[in-house]
Amino acid sequence: MANGIMVVAETSGGSVAPITTEVLGAARRVADQMGQPVQAALLGSGVEGLAKDLIAHGADQVYVVDDPLLEKYSNDGYTAAMQKVVAQADPAAVLGGQTDVGRDLIPRLAFRLGSTAAMDCLNVMAQDGKVMVERPCYGGNARAIHSFNTSPVLATIRSKAQDPLPRDDSRQGQVTKVDAGLDASAIRDKIVAHEEVAEEGIRLEDAEVIVAGGRGIGSAEGFAILEELAKVLGGAVGATRAACDNGWRPVSEQIGLTGKIVGPTLYFAVGISGASQHMAGCSGAKTIVAINKDPEAIVFKSSRFGIVDDYKKVMPALLEACKKLKA
Ligand SMILES: Cc1cc2nc3c(=O)[nH]c(=O)nc-3n(C[C@H](O)[C@H](O)[C@H](O)COP(=O)(O)OP(=O)(O)OC[C@H]3O[C@@H](n4cnc5c(N)ncnc54)[C@H](O)[C@@H]3O)c2cc1C
Repeated sequence: MANGIMVVAETSGGSVAPITTEVLGAARRVADQMGQPVQAALLGSGVEGLAKDLIAHGADQVYVVDDPLLEKYSNDGYTAAMQKVVAQADPAAVLGGQTDVGRDLIPRLAFRLGSTAAMDCLNVMAQDGKVMVERPCYGGNARAIHSFNTSPVLATIRSKAQDPLPRDDSRQGQVTKVDAGLDASAIRDKIVAHEEVAEEGIRLEDAEVIVAGGRGIGSAEGFAILEELAKVLGGAVGATRAACDNGWRPVSEQIGLTGKIVGPTLYFAVGISGASQHMAGCSGAKTIVAINKDPEAIVFKSSRFGIVDDYKKVMPALLEACKKLKA
């Protein structure tokens, strides 16, 4: 019988990626409810040394596929390697992050395993011995609980939706090497170039404070005061698709259904109407503060605090108040 909650580990800059520690936290909680172990699949080249970090963050067993062919992510290579790992470990669930890798890998892996995948989940839980997941629906206005008729359960978890466990280096775990028997000719997708988008300051996905602007800002220059507030609060600037489409902000700052999903503690929505496609990207924020001159703007429905006025009047006062508080 399937036994274990498996996490697909991701690495970033030679370390375990923050999203993986969050997914491990979720896996640990559900595995404890079910009395099952947490397994981690660690794929890559020269990555074996990271197994201890996965154990320190909650894994009981780490399956390592260390192969030069896995140095860079490829769908063919990672899917084949994961199939081998799943065949050996036989987990009840395979969880990844809602990241570029997770979005690409998990659905295809689900197909190969004859199962199904739930994407962009906020939570994972056990009920009557089964793994269930919770996902946002209706543009983030409601949440749905999904159960599965197929096994294993495959799901991706949204960044910042789950808390990682505190690192504990005294945790013990088992490391198993898996030979995936990869064949270079079977890896048809090749990465021909890798271009890093220069991001200054804090990444949107990691920011505790986001000051986001929309079409109501009116120009690229109008964002200067949002940048200043973000700087004072140690946060990042985000934007709606309308602001990005207008060329006022880079596409890498777009938040929403077709942009980034963020989960800061504090989210300022400035000159943003609150379209569901935008709110789908920020509904995980703990507190939303909306600034909009239209009292009927739908954004106020999702906001904890609302200021009805022209942002050009509100923002300078807000900035000064924040500066004083931070001084
Ligand atoms: C398939 C699909 C995917 C999409 N994906 C995304 C996505 O990922 N992210 C996204 O953001 N959108 C997305 N959209 C677009 C989305 O539907 C909205 O069109 C968009 O979010 C609107 O952006 P906005 O709020 O900046 O602009 P608007 O809807 O035009 O709102 C501007 C707001 O600014 C206010 N305002 C104007 N002037 C001022 C002022 N001086 N001071 C204060 N307030 C002012 C207005 O009252 C208004 O409420 C998607 C749409 C589709 C169809």
